[in-house]
Amino acid sequence: MPQYPTALQNPVFRTISKAAKNLNLESYVIGGYVRDFLLKRGEAKDIDIVAVGSGIDLAVEVSKLLPGKPKVSIFKTYGTAMLKSGGIELEFVGARKESYSEESRNPAVENGTLEDDQNRRDFTINALALSLSDNSFGELLDPFNGIEDLKKNIIRTPLNPDITYSDDPLRMLRAIRFATQLDFIIEKNSLDAITRNAERIKIISKERIVDELNKILLADVPSKGFALLLKTGLLPFILPELIALRGIDEKEGQTHKDNFWHTLEVVDNISKTTDDLWLRWAALLHDIGKAPTKRFDKKLGWTFHAHEFVGAKMVYKLFKRLNMPLNEKMKFVQKMVLMSSRPIVLASEVTDSAVRRLIFDAGENVDDLMTLCEADITTKNPKKFKKYHANFQLVRDKIVEVEERDHIRNFQPPVTGEEIMETFGLNPSREIGVIKDAIKEAILEGEIPNEYEAAKEFMLKKGAEIGLKAVIK
Ligand code: ATP
Repeated sequence: MPQYPTALQNPVFRTISKAAKNLNLESYVIGGYVRDFLLKRGEAKDIDIVAVGSGIDLAVEVSKLLPGKPKVSIFKTYGTAMLKSGGIELEFVGARKESYSEESRNPAVENGTLEDDQNRRDFTINALALSLSDNSFGELLDPFNGIEDLKKNIIRTPLNPDITYSDDPLRMLRAIRFATQLDFIIEKNSLDAITRNAERIKIISKERIVDELNKILLADVPSKGFALLLKTGLLPFILPELIALRGIDEKEGQTHKDNFWHTLEVVDNISKTTDDLWLRWAALLHDIGKAPTKRFDKKLGWTFHAHEFVGAKMVYKLFKRLNMPLNEKMKFVQKMVLMSSRPIVLASEVTDSAVRRLIFDAGENVDDLMTLCEADITTKNPKKFKKYHANFQLVRDKIVEVEERDHIRNFQPPVTGEEIMETFGLNPSREIGVIKDAIKEAILEGEIPNEYEAAKEFMLKKGAEIGLKAVIK
């Protein structure tokens, strides 16, 4: 059996080994840690330990031997325990055998051997275990030849894939997520089994689905995962809004682009420039309003009138359906979708006032919006590609120039409502809003600078215009 003692250089492994010896049980490090070590994916932060015996007892014993005796969190229902040592999370579980029922992904559990425990793992590459026993420290236990699959970049289930996926349908998403993250291929039997079992994804909680979607979105090339979700038939159960973007229609010889594949290109593009999960979500959803707004007009050809507005509304519904947070992250995605066409309109004629309005409306998200728009350039014509990017660079330059001069990004009215009330001796009333709005408009249009003196003078003028008399000057 191959030995990998270099995987176990962290002193914590010797401590676990000693604790297991004290309790007279075998222990192994298993799963992601071993996989990622062999793939040279860098030091993992989570380490999964299997004890052939009680995982909880082992965790308690390990804690006793560690400096500072870290706190052990025990999850009795699952028979697991967790402790943190030196920035690493150690998860302990007793080796177990699992049996599943139709309606739930939570199996009946009984104690088992290491082999039983490896059998219940989702993929051969996640079933790799390294021994922590004194006499075989670092020895690899690999009953399903996971090491070969690692070398060949293959995702395969240890047992019959139909059973593996039907037992716990979350594994279908995990397969696709790992294939995306690691750039692996899902082997054919597995892929077919996922396709056959796709509908079973319905028994998985929204939160877990979103967890996996987020991981797919955060991969280097997220389109790979979405293409697999489409191919296996999982996508309609998860994001039907994206499915609706598929296809090219033709009328009177005019076609439009396939907005599904276009969207995936945009997501891949943006993933080269940002790791921000929510900006990636915005890229994924930026065109969802195009399906319900698609029309053919004899003069204009294909149109998607107000798709940004419709799309922003759909973002809320989609987040709600998937139990995603309906907080400022959702609002950010909505705002990006709503504003996604604004810079394009600007790119043909970059005036100061239009740029001021863009900065005013986008506020602190103006750079993210530009990043989204640049990712949206998917033309295959190199000349156009260069030209569109150059146009957006002009917009970006103008944003910097205008912002330096006019400070619109975090716009605060230079004259407050209170000052307007005092100046004209007003109680709270509609006129105050009218004057404030007029000042804001004058600044955005460039009639006056974004400064107190100029704004005050404008306020007096505007007040007089609507018949108000200043009581203080
Ligand atoms: P990552 O940390 O990138 O998600 P990981 O492999 O460590 O990768 P975890 O979700 O932490 O993923 O799971 C740890 C291990 O537990 C896996 O490697 C796998 O062996 C096993 N596992 C996790 N979820 C399942 C599941 N749904 N079915 C079967 N085995 C699973």
